[in-house]
Amino acid sequence: MAVIGAGIVGVSTAIWLQRDGHDVILIDRAGPAEGTSFGNGGVLASCAVVPVPVPGLLAKAPRMLLDSNQPLFLKWRYVPRLLPWLTRYMGHANAADAARAAAALTAVIGDSLADHQALSRGTPAERWVVPSDYMFVYENRTHFLADGFGWALRRDLGFEWTELEGNAFRAYDPVFDPRLGYGVKLANHGRISDPGQYVKDLAQHVQQQGGRLVIGDVSDIAYENGKVSGVRVSGQTISCDAAVIATGVWSGPLSRKLGLAVPLESERGYHIEFWNPSVVPRSPIMVASGKFVATPMEGRLRLAGVVEFGGLDAGPSRAPFELLKRQGLAAFPGLEYSEMTEWMGHRPAPADSIPVIGEVPGIAGVFTGFGHHHVGLTGGPKTGRLIAQMIGGHRPNIDMTPYAPARFAAAGKR
Ligand SMILES: Cc1cc2nc3c(=O)[nH]c(=O)nc-3n(C[C@H](O)[C@H](O)[C@H](O)COP(=O)(O)OP(=O)(O)OC[C@H]3O[C@@H](n4cnc5c(N)ncnc54)[C@H](O)[C@@H]3O)c2cc1C
Repeated sequence: MAVIGAGIVGVSTAIWLQRDGHDVILIDRAGPAEGTSFGNGGVLASCAVVPVPVPGLLAKAPRMLLDSNQPLFLKWRYVPRLLPWLTRYMGHANAADAARAAAALTAVIGDSLADHQALSRGTPAERWVVPSDYMFVYENRTHFLADGFGWALRRDLGFEWTELEGNAFRAYDPVFDPRLGYGVKLANHGRISDPGQYVKDLAQHVQQQGGRLVIGDVSDIAYENGKVSGVRVSGQTISCDAAVIATGVWSGPLSRKLGLAVPLESERGYHIEFWNPSVVPRSPIMVASGKFVATPMEGRLRLAGVVEFGGLDAGPSRAPFELLKRQGLAAFPGLEYSEMTEWMGHRPAPADSIPVIGEVPGIAGVFTGFGHHHVGLTGGPKTGRLIAQMIGGHRPNIDMTPYAPARFAAAGKR
């Protein structure tokens, strides 16, 4: 079995395939956790099922773009290339599509702490999984109520929470600026205290279990008589019975070669890290006004967030880093640190906000596992398990139709 891409989705798939008795080759052009899985917010955000396109986004987005204190950025030169995807994406900013995406995401991410514990148990990566609450932080109740659409969706999908106001909020965690006075606390969540090292340790486990790690660029999938026969890696063909495309935001070219026209775009995101911080929150938090998360990590506090549209090639912009820093220092007054580091990465965003998981139509043995936008760390283990079940001929216990790559099978085979 060949798994292409050694981010959280690829390594999870490799591990569950091994546990089902398969020989696995894990292939990555840069090595494990060198893509988006390196720098995410580290939150096992089971409740983060509400997609970005929700009713009202179309009206709000232009104002957000013009305000440098809002977490939405655009590289204007990229607009012509962005437009076809953006049109489809914005077309999903309605209640019915948001509810459909939220229901699909719940089945993949709704039990993520248990999924990560099951994945990492008995591996060197186990130590990075930390059970915790997840707290959404608002200024006040009015501010919370303004997010009512998302919370109603979560309630309908069975999520439960506790609201903490004023003194109760401060008693839970006194680290926040007094202007933040309302918390929504969800139990049974978690964090990964070093996402990059976590995925590297999982990949090491794959090797310890006899898997082969190949560093190389996969340019194509070979197939004969409608069945996969190998993958082309750096000019050579490696034979395989099944191949999994887990190449995150870079999945477009391989998908197109297999006849899939997936509307996939990068939602560029940023993190900064305050090393040796003088204060850390008790659990990972989402500061709702800035839409960034703050997560305690090994030796540092990581702030991650911002959506920037600008494609895969352009380097990072300065403004998102500055915004995260301003907002972080405002949320945690008196925060001191020894050093600040920065990172930019690419969330793989399909226009309908539903990950693309399943067998490629017309080519037996080729599977996709990509498109997890803001929640790929959270949903990677479950995705890997589902793919391994499909490859092994075991029927997953959820309906896989909503995720099927067949919904994008429009381009015609080569
Ligand atoms: C700022 C930010 C914060 C985030 N915070 C969170 C969070 O708190 N919680 C959460 O759940 N998610 C979060 N995410 C999202 C999450 O990080 C991603 O959804 C997830 O990492 C995607 O994992 P992946 O395995 O699909 O892709 P990746 O981790 O990108 O892995 C894909 C791999 O494929 C390799 N590759 C690509 N093309 C080829 C090829 N042709 N041949 C060989 N190898 C190839 C790449 O080198 C890469 O290693 C965040 C993302 C960002 C940017």
